[in-house]
Amino acid sequence: GQITRQDLQYLEILGHGNGGTVYRTFHQPSKVIMAVKVIALDATQEEQRQIMAELDILHKCDSSYIIGFYGAFFAENRISICAEYMDGGSLDGYGAIPEPVLGRIIVGVVKGLNYLWSLKIMHRDIKPSNVLVNTQGCVKLCDFGVSVQLLTSLTKTFIGTNAYMAPERILGGEYGIHSEIWSLGLSTLEMALGRFPYLPEGSKPSSLVPFELLQCIVNEKPPTLSLEHFSPSLIEFTQQW
Ligand code: ADP
Ligand code: MG
Repeated sequence: GQITRQDLQYLEILGHGNGGTVYRTFHQPSKVIMAVKVIALDATQEEQRQIMAELDILHKCDSSYIIGFYGAFFAENRISICAEYMDGGSLDGYGAIPEPVLGRIIVGVVKGLNYLWSLKIMHRDIKPSNVLVNTQGCVKLCDFGVSVQLLTSLTKTFIGTNAYMAPERILGGEYGIHSEIWSLGLSTLEMALGRFPYLPEGSKPSSLVPFELLQCIVNEKPPTLSLEHFSPSLIEFTQQW
């Protein structure tokens, strides 16, 4: 059945992102705990219909490396997207992750990406906060760009740049799997180091990326890990771009 606003009991805020808020909710009819992302959106009736149609393929995404999808609905000028709740949260919250654990995580991320690519879906927003874990030991991807209309409606209200974008994407070049590999590499470096590679300890990339940072990503040699602290195989992995 369709999920409606009335069926959901909002329990607490899980986090805020670029334009949206994610709530832990209880879906009364099914008794399922869900993560519901609410985004303010300026979309016409026709655009809303288009977004709902495009989100429908999420029902066909069936992989243990992809977050489960329960449904979506519009209320006022907001869209709510209901997804599987992951009780371990996202990987931006764990600091430096030890290599043996990171290895398991990256295997999950790569399998998830491979699954999406096999369906001709580009993720478009790979970063540690879009990799979720649970206490069952699962690693799953969320927030991938299945709806072109949703992405279009979002960029009308929010800046379309983030700090994990590949140089060619920052420069407005062609987007492809290679751009996703860049974001995967940068995310891997961040999870290994416990900080965003281009920024000093303690600072997180904000949604409003300063011009200087973009310049640095485009012009400097990509960041690397030191042999002193990391294994050759992890270092080699992060250089495969
Ligand atoms: P961002 O990904 O940029 O952090 P989001 O709005 O996508 O912004 O998500 C905000 C936060 O909500 C995330 O950082 C994550 O910690 C949490 N979150 C999102 N989806 C889920 C989920 N399905 N289960 C548990 N926590 C989630
Ligand atoms: Mg997210």
